[in-house]
Formats: sequence, structure tokens, C-alpha cells
Amino acid sequence: MNKISPSQEGERIRIDNNRLFIPENPVIPYIEGDGIGPEVMGVARKVLDAAVKKAYQGRKKIIWLEIYAGEKANKKYSKYLPQDTIQSIRDYIVAIKGPLTTPVGEGYRSLNVTLRQILELYACVRPVQYFSGVPSPMLHPEKMNMVIFRENTEDVYAGIEWPQGSKEVKKLLHYLKKELGVEIRKDSGIGIKPISITGTKRLVRKAIQYALEKGRKSVTLVHKGNIMKYTEGAFRDWGYQVAKEEFSQETVTEKELWDKYQGKLPCGKILIKDRIADNMFQQALTRTDEYEVVALPNLNGDYFSDACAAQVGGLGMAPGANIGDFIALFEATHGTAPKYAGQDKVNPSSMVLSGVMMLEYIGWRQAGNLIRQAIAKAIKQKKVTYDLARQMGIEPIKCSQFGEAIIDNL
Ligand code: NAP
Repeated sequence: MNKISPSQEGERIRIDNNRLFIPENPVIPYIEGDGIGPEVMGVARKVLDAAVKKAYQGRKKIIWLEIYAGEKANKKYSKYLPQDTIQSIRDYIVAIKGPLTTPVGEGYRSLNVTLRQILELYACVRPVQYFSGVPSPMLHPEKMNMVIFRENTEDVYAGIEWPQGSKEVKKLLHYLKKELGVEIRKDSGIGIKPISITGTKRLVRKAIQYALEKGRKSVTLVHKGNIMKYTEGAFRDWGYQVAKEEFSQETVTEKELWDKYQGKLPCGKILIKDRIADNMFQQALTRTDEYEVVALPNLNGDYFSDACAAQVGGLGMAPGANIGDFIALFEATHGTAPKYAGQDKVNPSSMVLSGVMMLEYIGWRQAGNLIRQAIAKAIKQKKVTYDLARQMGIEPIKCSQFGEAIIDNL
């Protein structure tokens, strides 16, 4: 039974002529999430509403629609991820979610990974940008301004693996030895790492399109192709192929940059470069501002996005989105932080900034900009939650008070 109650107000976002059509009063489904989810989502919705009101003087308004996943869904449907929820995200196209608990134990797949795979949200997009005044381990954290595009549906993350000693592993060991002449230690567990042309090209295409739309100067393909040639190395090769086949007028490679343009990027073009993953981790620290948009396979993307977020103040400040061809699910990058649940204590910035990404996705940039400026101002005023306050040596304010400070600063 459908347990979601859409209001009479509001219109659906739709796809018209291969483009998103955004009404003035779009219905946007939200999942509160578990643990600290309801607190950060509550603040995010209030801040978004206030910014939209301020920016458009009542001409535009989000009509929120609650949908359910995690503990709240389990109470309502006896299921952690009901079909209603998946269908609503498909129907309404743009949605936002708080963090969800992955119950520990065999047989439970992460709800987040499931949502990404079922809805084909193949790009995990994480902008990493510094807010002045946020404590950081870096001397020049302001040099960080990257947008990370992490592949979301394949690689060792696809969960194709079997435990040591299982009949599947025994079969595989036998097959590998007999058919391919490969001997693997008998007491191994085995995981499989698929990386496809389809998965790679659609991700890199999205990264290049993003760079073009936002006026970014480079897209860097990050891989471990020196060792894993047919997966990671192929990711690099297929990435360059997309650039050459689909964006030849708009892109140049590093080789072309030096051979044809004396090292000076021609106006309006994007530089496509590649870096081996281990080098890229140090480049992010030592030559931070030479990288703008970065595309990576799933596992490296997971590590790299948290490492970059740490350079600008950690996960509490880092927003994210999972985006497919049109459907987009915006989410805080942190988890449910159960030890802080119900204390009105944590930093809602990650959730609020994910909401800002959502406003940008639907073209409501003015409202998004107001929020960014208001957060920056709150930090300057030293109105911050415990996570930043403890590093700044000042008294913290509550999660809800931080939300009020943002709204006051709009
Ligand atoms: P976590 O919930 O992200 O919390 C780890 C630590 O990060 C917290 O103890 C806290 O650090 C800090 N933190 C997280 N959110 C914060 C915020 N908004 N403001 C300030 N500090 C924040 O990670 P976890 O404890 O490993 O995971 C808990 C549950 O969340 C698990 O069930 C996991 O599966 C789930 N999870 C869900 C998602 C998702 O839904 N996308 C993502 C990751 C994890 P201090 O202790 O130092 O204060």
C-alpha cells in the first residue's frame, strides 16, 4: 500500500525534450534519515525554504514530500527500503536524503549502495571547497576547490565477492587454474573488479559536461592503470576516448597543450589530464590548485573524496549527490553519528550544502549563493557547532542555532 501522501500543492519536475523542466513550485521528496538525520534534515529544509523565499520573494517555493527509508520505513512498512520510496524518487526526479544506518550483520546491503544501483545514479559528485575560518590541517586550505566525480556502480564496490572456503571460491579457484593457468592461494576470499566502457564513459562525459557548464579549466582522470591495466588503465583510455570523440572542439590533452599551444591553455578549452592514484593523493596536498574537476573509479573515488574533505575541515562540511542521467539524490556525506542522535549538537552544514547543490541542479543558483554566503558569515562570526568549536577553542552553538544563524545571515 502506498503510504506517501503528496500534498495538493506543487508540480512534478519533468523531463521535456531531454532537459529538466522545473516548475516554480516543484515537489521534492525527502528522506529524514536515521540517527542525526532528522536534526540535520530539519535544519536544511528550514534554511532552503528561507533562502528560496528571500531570493525569489515568494515566486518560487519547494513543496516537500516525506518518503521513507531506514528505521522510520521499517516502522511504517516493516521494510528498510520500500518500493514506494524508490518509485517516488523515479517519479519526482530530484530528491534529498539524510544518512541511513546500515544494520550490521550478514544479509543487509547498504541502503545507500542499493539506492545508487537501482536508480542508476552512476556519478557520485562531491564539491570540496574551503570556507574561510574553518579549522584545517593545511597551510593554504583555500587552494582546494575541486569537484570530484566518483563512479558509483561498479569496481570492487559492486559487491561481487565470495568468502574464503565457500563453494563459489572453490569453483573459481579450479576454473582459474584449469582454464586460465592462474594459481591463487587456496585460503583466499575472492572479489571481482569490473570496470566497463559504459560505466566509464557516462561518468567522464558527465564530468566534462560539468566542467564546460561551470567554466572549469581541467578534468583529471585518476587511475591505477600502471598496475591494473585492463580495469584502471582502461578507465583512463576510455576517458580520453570520450573527450576525443565527443568534445574534440572543447578539450585538449596535456600532450597537445605543449605540442600545439606552448603550454598555454587556449581560451574556452578544457585540459584533459590523467594521474596515477598514489601520485594524485600527494598532488592534492602539494599542488592543490592545479586540479579542478577529477574523475575516478569507485574505490579510489571513495578514499579520495574523504581525503580532500579532510583538507578543508572534514566530513561535517562536505556535501554530495548521486546523479544519473536525470534522477539526482542529494545527501550528506557523513553517516548517522548515533552517539549524537537527539542531542541537537552536530554540524548541519553537510546536509545544508547538499541542499545548495540541489538548488544549483534545478537552476535556483541565487538561493544557493545566498546560503553559501550566510554559512561563511556564520563561521566568521564564530557561531559554529561543537566539531569546529573544539578546534577553534570557542564555545559551540547547537545544530538548530547554527541553522538560525544561517537564516539570520541570509
Ligand atoms: P559517521 O556517522 O559519519 O560518524 C563518524 C564521526 O564523524 C562522528 O562520531 C563525528 O565525529 C563525525 N561526524 C559525523 N557527522 C557529523 C556532523 N554532522 N557534524 C559533526 N561531526 C560529524 O560514521 P560512522 O559512525 O562510521 O557510521 C554510523 C552509521 O552511519 C553506520 O550505520 C554507517 O553505515 C552509516 N553511514 C551512512 C552513510 C550515508 O547514509 N550516506 C554514510 C556513512 C555512514 P566525532 O566523534 O569526532 O565528534
